[in-house]
Amino acid sequence: MTINNIRNEEFGSEESCVNCGSSQLKRELQRQAFQYGTGDTAVKLTAEMPVYTCLSCGYQFAGPEAEDARHEAVCRYLGVLTPQEIVAIREHGALTRSQFADLTRIGIASLKRWETGLLFQNAANDELVYLMVFPDNVARLRERDHHHQINLQSLSGAPPSQRTSRRRLRFRGRCLGGNETVVQQAMQWQLRVYA
Ligand SMILES: [Zn+2]
Repeated sequence: MTINNIRNEEFGSEESCVNCGSSQLKRELQRQAFQYGTGDTAVKLTAEMPVYTCLSCGYQFAGPEAEDARHEAVCRYLGVLTPQEIVAIREHGALTRSQFADLTRIGIASLKRWETGLLFQNAANDELVYLMVFPDNVARLRERDHHHQINLQSLSGAPPSQRTSRRRLRFRGRCLGGNETVVQQAMQWQLRVYA
Protein backbone atom coordinates (compact mmCIF):
# COMPACT_ATOMS: atom_id res chain seq x y z
CA MET A 1 0.00 0.00 0.00
CA THR A 2 1.55 3.27 -1.06
CA ILE A 3 0.69 6.54 0.55
CA ASN A 4 0.42 9.57 -1.65
CA ASN A 5 -1.47 12.82 -1.75
CA ILE A 6 -1.64 13.00 2.01
CA ARG A 7 -4.02 15.78 2.91
CA ASN A 8 -4.16 15.77 6.67
CA GLU A 9 -3.08 13.90 9.74
CA GLU A 10 -4.86 13.26 12.98
CA PHE A 11 -3.46 11.63 16.06
CA GLY A 12 -5.63 9.71 18.42
CA SER A 13 -8.94 8.33 17.29
CA GLU A 14 -11.77 6.20 18.52
CA GLU A 15 -10.50 3.48 16.23
CA SER A 16 -8.06 0.93 17.46
CA CYS A 17 -5.48 -1.13 15.59
CA VAL A 18 -7.00 -4.30 14.14
CA ASN A 19 -3.62 -6.02 14.61
CA CYS A 20 -2.49 -5.10 18.14
CA GLY A 21 -5.40 -3.18 19.60
CA SER A 22 -3.43 0.01 20.20
CA SER A 23 -5.38 3.22 19.95
CA GLN A 24 -2.32 5.20 18.90
CA LEU A 25 -3.23 5.61 15.28
CA LYS A 26 -2.29 8.05 12.60
CA ARG A 27 -5.09 8.85 10.18
CA GLU A 28 -4.29 9.94 6.66
CA LEU A 29 -6.40 10.64 3.63
CA GLN A 30 -5.13 8.78 0.64
CA ARG A 31 -6.34 9.09 -2.94
CA GLN A 32 -7.05 5.58 -4.17
CA ALA A 33 -8.36 4.27 -7.45
CA PHE A 34 -11.12 1.68 -7.57
CA GLN A 35 -13.25 0.08 -10.22
CA TYR A 36 -16.96 0.74 -10.51
CA GLY A 37 -19.13 -1.56 -12.58
CA THR A 38 -18.21 -4.67 -14.48
CA GLY A 39 -17.38 -5.67 -18.05
CA ASP A 40 -17.56 -3.04 -20.78
CA THR A 41 -19.22 -0.48 -18.54
CA ALA A 42 -16.56 -0.68 -15.82
CA VAL A 43 -14.89 2.62 -15.02
CA LYS A 44 -11.96 3.55 -12.85
CA LEU A 45 -12.81 6.13 -10.21
CA THR A 46 -10.77 7.66 -7.42
CA ALA A 47 -11.73 8.61 -3.89
CA GLU A 48 -10.03 10.02 -0.82
CA MET A 49 -9.84 7.08 1.55
CA PRO A 50 -8.96 7.35 5.21
CA VAL A 51 -6.00 5.09 5.99
CA TYR A 52 -4.89 4.35 9.55
CA THR A 53 -1.32 3.53 10.52
CA CYS A 54 -0.72 2.00 13.93
CA LEU A 55 2.06 3.86 15.73
CA SER A 56 2.75 0.82 17.91
CA CYS A 57 3.09 -1.97 15.35
CA GLY A 58 3.08 -0.18 12.01
CA TYR A 59 0.03 -2.02 10.68
CA GLN A 60 -1.99 -0.12 8.08
CA PHE A 61 -5.70 -0.49 7.44
CA ALA A 62 -8.56 1.33 5.74
CA GLY A 63 -10.96 3.22 7.96
CA PRO A 64 -14.65 2.39 8.16
CA GLU A 65 -15.35 5.60 6.20
CA ALA A 66 -13.59 4.18 3.14
CA GLU A 67 -16.86 2.72 1.89
CA ASP A 68 -18.57 6.11 2.29
CA ALA A 69 -15.81 7.79 0.31
CA ARG A 70 -16.19 5.25 -2.47
CA HIS A 71 -19.97 5.64 -2.48
CA GLU A 72 -19.65 9.40 -2.74
CA ALA A 73 -17.24 9.12 -5.67
CA VAL A 74 -19.74 6.89 -7.48
CA CYS A 75 -22.54 9.41 -6.82
CA ARG A 76 -20.39 12.14 -8.39
CA TYR A 77 -19.73 9.88 -11.35
CA LEU A 78 -23.43 9.07 -11.79
CA GLY A 79 -24.38 12.71 -11.33
CA VAL A 80 -26.71 12.04 -8.42
CA LEU A 81 -26.87 13.53 -4.94
CA THR A 82 -24.55 12.10 -2.31
CA PRO A 83 -25.99 10.71 0.94
CA GLN A 84 -24.75 13.80 2.74
CA GLU A 85 -26.51 16.06 0.25
CA ILE A 86 -29.78 14.17 0.61
CA VAL A 87 -29.65 14.53 4.39
CA ALA A 88 -28.79 18.24 3.99
CA ILE A 89 -31.76 18.81 1.66
CA ARG A 90 -34.14 17.03 4.04
CA GLU A 91 -32.84 18.92 7.05
CA HIS A 92 -32.94 22.20 5.13
CA GLY A 93 -36.70 21.70 4.96
CA ALA A 94 -36.72 20.80 8.68
CA LEU A 95 -38.24 17.43 7.81
CA THR A 96 -37.82 14.14 9.57
CA ARG A 97 -37.25 11.08 7.42
CA SER A 98 -40.84 10.08 7.92
CA GLN A 99 -42.19 13.53 6.98
CA PHE A 100 -39.98 13.64 3.90
CA ALA A 101 -41.18 10.18 2.88
CA ASP A 102 -44.83 11.15 3.36
CA LEU A 103 -44.51 14.29 1.26
CA THR A 104 -42.58 12.78 -1.65
CA ARG A 105 -44.19 9.34 -1.38
CA ILE A 106 -40.72 7.88 -1.48
CA GLY A 107 -40.56 4.76 0.69
CA ILE A 108 -38.95 5.53 4.02
CA ALA A 109 -36.76 2.42 3.77
CA SER A 110 -35.42 3.58 0.40
CA LEU A 111 -34.77 7.06 1.73
CA LYS A 112 -32.83 5.59 4.64
CA ARG A 113 -30.74 3.45 2.29
CA TRP A 114 -29.88 6.47 0.12
CA GLU A 115 -29.01 8.56 3.16
CA THR A 116 -26.77 5.91 4.64
CA GLY A 117 -25.10 5.05 1.34
CA LEU A 118 -26.45 1.51 1.06
CA LEU A 119 -28.11 2.13 -2.29
CA PHE A 120 -28.02 4.67 -5.10
CA GLN A 121 -31.28 6.46 -5.89
CA ASN A 122 -32.28 6.27 -9.55
CA ALA A 123 -32.17 9.41 -11.70
CA ALA A 124 -35.90 10.18 -11.43
CA ASN A 125 -35.91 9.92 -7.65
CA ASP A 126 -32.75 11.96 -7.54
CA GLU A 127 -34.51 14.77 -9.42
CA LEU A 128 -37.44 14.60 -7.00
CA VAL A 129 -35.14 14.82 -3.97
CA TYR A 130 -33.29 17.70 -5.62
CA LEU A 131 -36.52 19.65 -6.12
CA MET A 132 -37.18 19.36 -2.38
CA VAL A 133 -34.36 21.83 -1.71
CA PHE A 134 -36.76 24.60 -2.79
CA PRO A 135 -39.19 25.50 0.01
CA ASP A 136 -42.00 26.37 -2.40
CA ASN A 137 -41.88 22.83 -3.80
CA VAL A 138 -42.16 21.44 -0.29
CA ALA A 139 -45.11 23.77 0.28
CA ARG A 140 -46.76 22.63 -2.97
CA LEU A 141 -46.54 19.00 -1.98
CA ARG A 142 -47.89 19.83 1.47
CA GLU A 143 -50.91 21.51 -0.12
CA ARG A 144 -51.51 18.85 -2.74
CA ASP A 145 -54.79 17.07 -2.41
CA HIS A 146 -54.42 13.72 -4.11
CA HIS A 147 -58.17 13.32 -4.40
CA HIS A 148 -58.61 16.34 -6.66
CA GLN A 149 -57.74 16.48 -10.32
CA ILE A 150 -55.59 19.18 -11.83
CA ASN A 151 -57.56 21.79 -13.75
CA LEU A 152 -55.98 21.23 -17.17
CA GLN A 153 -57.54 24.36 -18.65
CA SER A 154 -55.70 26.49 -16.13
CA LEU A 155 -52.37 25.17 -17.35
CA SER A 156 -50.51 27.46 -19.70
CA GLY A 157 -47.19 27.37 -21.46
CA ALA A 158 -45.88 25.31 -24.34
CA PRO A 159 -48.43 23.34 -26.38
CA PRO A 160 -48.76 19.76 -25.25
CA SER A 161 -47.32 17.00 -27.35
CA GLN A 162 -49.22 16.15 -30.56
CA ARG A 163 -50.54 12.94 -29.19
CA THR A 164 -51.95 14.53 -26.07
CA SER A 165 -53.42 17.53 -27.86
CA ARG A 166 -55.03 15.43 -30.58
CA ARG A 167 -56.69 13.31 -27.95
CA ARG A 168 -57.83 16.36 -26.08
CA LEU A 169 -59.15 18.06 -29.24
CA ARG A 170 -61.22 15.06 -30.16
CA PHE A 171 -62.70 15.12 -26.69
CA ARG A 172 -63.34 18.85 -26.71
CA GLY A 173 -64.66 18.80 -30.26
CA ARG A 174 -67.38 16.49 -29.15
CA CYS A 175 -68.11 18.37 -25.96
CA LEU A 176 -67.87 21.93 -27.18
CA GLY A 177 -69.22 21.44 -30.70
CA GLY A 178 -66.42 23.06 -32.72
CA ASN A 179 -65.24 25.69 -30.31
CA GLU A 180 -63.43 28.44 -32.28
CA THR A 181 -60.44 28.68 -29.99
CA VAL A 182 -59.84 24.97 -30.10
CA VAL A 183 -59.96 24.94 -33.91
CA GLN A 184 -57.61 27.89 -34.18
CA GLN A 185 -55.23 26.37 -31.71
CA ALA A 186 -55.28 23.11 -33.62
CA MET A 187 -54.46 24.87 -36.89
CA GLN A 188 -51.63 26.68 -35.19
CA TRP A 189 -50.21 23.38 -34.01
CA GLN A 190 -50.93 21.87 -37.47
CA LEU A 191 -53.14 19.18 -36.09
CA ARG A 192 -56.04 17.50 -37.70
CA VAL A 193 -59.29 19.07 -36.58
CA TYR A 194 -62.11 16.79 -35.58
CA ALA A 195 -65.36 18.52 -36.39
ZN1 LIG B 1 -0.97 -2.07 15.95
